[in-house]
Amino acid sequence: MTMICLGIESTAHTFGAAVCDGSGKMLSNEKDTYKPKAGWGLVPMDARKHHEEVASHVMLKAIGSAGVNEDDIDIIAFSQGPGLPPCLHAGLNFSVDLARRLRKPLMGVNHCVAHIEIGRLMTKLEDPVTLYVSGANTQVIAHVAGRYRVFGETQDIGIGNALDKFGREAGFEFPHGPKIEEKAKGGKWIGLPYVVKGMDLSFSGIVTDATRKLKNGESLRDVCFSLQETMFAMVTEVIERALAHTGKGEVLLTGGVAANKRLAEMVGTMCRERGARSSVVPWEYCMDNAAMIAWTGVLAHRAGQKPLDLQNAEILSRWRTDQVETPWIQRP
Ligand code: AMP
Ligand code: MG
Repeated sequence: MTMICLGIESTAHTFGAAVCDGSGKMLSNEKDTYKPKAGWGLVPMDARKHHEEVASHVMLKAIGSAGVNEDDIDIIAFSQGPGLPPCLHAGLNFSVDLARRLRKPLMGVNHCVAHIEIGRLMTKLEDPVTLYVSGANTQVIAHVAGRYRVFGETQDIGIGNALDKFGREAGFEFPHGPKIEEKAKGGKWIGLPYVVKGMDLSFSGIVTDATRKLKNGESLRDVCFSLQETMFAMVTEVIERALAHTGKGEVLLTGGVAANKRLAEMVGTMCRERGARSSVVPWEYCMDNAAMIAWTGVLAHRAGQKPLDLQNAEILSRWRTDQVETPWIQRP
């Protein structure tokens, strides 16, 4: 039997546990997601409490549905950062206790890199420019000179949080992205600020303006449509320049916002015009999930990365993508 890895995810809303084997076969992928009260965003201490309450249950479910026993687990991997410190602490404490009890090595995995690695595994893209668009994150990333480098990113809030912020103002329920996508259908264009600065992006001013326009009587449909068109055109522009700069020929879309069909369409059109390929990570592995942590743990362990010292293991809440060593990728 190949190596069995248990992955644990807890950076924000989702507490997840998953089991995969050394060939990248996913044996299970379980999660329980914290839901803020109506009209509220995520309250970090409440999310931590949620994660602590569900952790054992979710882990046992992941092991059970994978058809393995605790003794079959060879390594444990957890999401060490970046993320909200209270949420990360829940994952760290749970994973360290488990690694101690089972006497197994514990690998610390970077959440953003894990999104890319599961994306490569699932889409078979080899060396893509990645658009990682989730609640908190908006980054355009490519592997260059031995690391994943961030070519462009948001200077304020992530695109998902921008959609959620507008959705709250519009009276939708969380998560707001899918409702905005639905409402936007058949809308017409009204002007909104388009904010690309070099390779970086800014979304909070657009949300302010969209909210103001809604309150001033523009139709919800037109505002939703224009919000999507503006924000998605901005990220598509930055991806295109990253493709041109790196000379790469593939684009990977991941993170919760990558579920949006209009985003995939816009990026797809741009790629076709340049002769590049684009692919969206399947929904289950696109949202925050523990399968991606398990798989990246396998890659890191197999490449000889050292497990964490359980006495001194810490969270890395601001761990940047370009600080992560990637010994499993060997490219000239
Ligand atoms: P994540 O942080 O990766 O778990 O993704 C959650 C974010 O994805 C939330 O901000 C959602 O509003 C957003 N989201 C989910 N589905 C869609 C969609 N169809 N269109 C746009 N955003 C979405
Ligand atoms: Mg994420």
